Amino acid sequence: MHIQQDGDGAEQNSPDFYNKLTASLPGIIYTYWLSADGSEHRYPYISRRVTDWFGLEPKALQKSADAVFGIIHPDDLAGVGESIQASARNLTTWKHGARLRLTSGEYQWFEGHSIPERQSDGSTLWYGQFHNIQQYKELEQTLRESEAEHSYQAGFQKLIANLSKEFINLHFGTIDECINELLKKIGQFFGVDRAYLFTFSDNYQFMANTHEWVSPGVSALLDRQQSVYIGCYQWWQQQIGGMVSHNKVVFIPDASELPDIAAGERELLERRGVCSMFAVPVKVRGRVTGFFGVDSLRQRRWREDQGDLLIIVSGLLSGALERHNLEQKLLSQSIRDPLTGLHNRRYLMPRLYEMLGRASRSQETFAIAMFDIDHFKQINDTLGHLAGDYVLTEIAGILEQQTRGMDVVARFGGEEFVVAYSLEQSDDVGRMVARILQAVRDHDFEFEGTPIEVTVSAGIAAVTELPRIPSSPDPVIGKADRYLYLAKQAGRDCFVDASGTYR
Ligand code: GH3
Ligand code: MG
Ligand code: MG
Repeated sequence: MHIQQDGDGAEQNSPDFYNKLTASLPGIIYTYWLSADGSEHRYPYISRRVTDWFGLEPKALQKSADAVFGIIHPDDLAGVGESIQASARNLTTWKHGARLRLTSGEYQWFEGHSIPERQSDGSTLWYGQFHNIQQYKELEQTLRESEAEHSYQAGFQKLIANLSKEFINLHFGTIDECINELLKKIGQFFGVDRAYLFTFSDNYQFMANTHEWVSPGVSALLDRQQSVYIGCYQWWQQQIGGMVSHNKVVFIPDASELPDIAAGERELLERRGVCSMFAVPVKVRGRVTGFFGVDSLRQRRWREDQGDLLIIVSGLLSGALERHNLEQKLLSQSIRDPLTGLHNRRYLMPRLYEMLGRASRSQETFAIAMFDIDHFKQINDTLGHLAGDYVLTEIAGILEQQTRGMDVVARFGGEEFVVAYSLEQSDDVGRMVARILQAVRDHDFEFEGTPIEVTVSAGIAAVTELPRIPSSPDPVIGKADRYLYLAKQAGRDCFVDASGTYR
């Protein structure tokens, strides 16, 4: 070795010189030598820090590098070996990261960087350094986690935004589809096996499963949970108490660890294969009316804020149910006659258009019967308006009783009623109307102790009587109205259709 004396301090190129020089560097400086056949390796020079960090002696490493390979994390060992071989083969810079065991026994991440040089005997010598990158690795991990968390949060927010939009655009009658869609999307997002909605009876004695989503392969329970008596489940009853009075979320992290008081619940959940579950109250106008829940059939880790996320979902459900109830109420107010509770003309007309549509598409036809109370003015005039109202209500009841669910009964005007009959081949509308007239005759009308004689007249028109199916129901209604006029002319308490007058 060429040694140069340079004034004060250590001789240049002496080990002491290098030790002093490398002492201020953050990593370890080394040369690494590998024999041509790969059977021998050593560190001709390695800075002193290798002792501080790993408890290894540079002197020993000068003879064999084995000790360094002995502190490489078992999972990283093969990778280090392969990368060294590749660098030796191609004489490309060696750059690799691996976990090494410190004197404390803890593994930390290090990254090495060295340049190979082929020696005349075919062996390879690397000049390089390696340094601790643990902090960087940890930062990277935190960053990855926070990115994952950020995208999870963003995904959840997007999901909630989309679901709220769906609920806002909700048209009458589609709330069930919307709820089912919500359960599915939320279930899939959280990776659960079941998501469901239960409603409590008014006295919180029973609960019923109204909507359910299950992941593929998981059995549905909805049909079996239509009328669950809560009194059987003491612990669950307590939880419901908490939901109702304190808006509490019920979280069962592990069904098998439920307390003994919940033995029945534990047994039920185990029978259904449920490992863990959440149940979040659903409120309508300040009152807990049910709960929204999710089940997991396998052991899983829940997010710490899982309950909060589910509360957001249940808030969405609550809002939608509340709005739907209100809309249903408004809707039924606008399409029902307040005196008799029957549907009004506003409801009848679109139904007639639907029936016309079906009649033009298929064999299904319909007929309209128009009823008018006979001498109704007399009832009003002699017994008063309230007596008239009473008769109207009674007639409405008879009409509802004497018709089928598929027929539409409506109060058409003052004391005129319409029944729209959906018809099949064998149906005889005349017979059905005759039965109504008879029921009115037989009914005991009595207002404030005074019996009232009441009869009605009717006109019946079938859509098939017209030369072709009209585009509006008006011609059918008009025809029924003309037949009704004929029935009045024929002396009342009878009906008229295309074939004649019948009593
Ligand atoms: P007809 O046998 O020819 O049908 O005789 P009518 O007395 O029933 O004749 P009309 O159809 O002209 O009389 C209908 C009456 O019904 C007139 C109106 O004051 C009364 N009316 C309409 N709506 C109501 C209601 O909501 N309550 C009461 N009490 N009366 C009503
Ligand atoms: Mg009348
Ligand atoms: Mg009238």
